[in-house]
Amino acid sequence: MAKRKGFTAQVEIPIPDDIPSQHHDAYMVLRRRELALRTTLRGSLRAIGDDWQGDNFGGDLADGAQITTTLDEEGVTITHAEAQLGRVNAAIDAIRDGTYSKCISCGVTIPKARLNALPFATHCVKCQEKEERRR
Ligand SMILES: [Zn+2]
Repeated sequence: MAKRKGFTAQVEIPIPDDIPSQHHDAYMVLRRRELALRTTLRGSLRAIGDDWQGDNFGGDLADGAQITTTLDEEGVTITHAEAQLGRVNAAIDAIRDGTYSKCISCGVTIPKARLNALPFATHCVKCQEKEERRR
């Protein structure tokens, strides 16, 4: 990851003292994800608000249909972002509890590669597959 230039959204995130040093990277990734999700949520909520308050409300039928579409789309975005936010926060809590990077089913340490790809993973690959088969 040498290409940091041009990535203007890099925010300096202070790391609290109760975050163990081996999880500093994960903490930063999670906090950045949290900020991004909050931005997404704010944007979606604003988009809905604009539709309800804007000129296009109270117009003809076509406008009404447009508003419904926006509400549906933003609703999906919001639901998705809130679910992710919950998982991100749970992962940050797990870092504080010292349970982060441990599979909650079998207790095995989740490989770093998996956590890099999925920083809020709570299961090792094996248990994840088991979970998915059960559904
Ligand atoms: Zn497991």
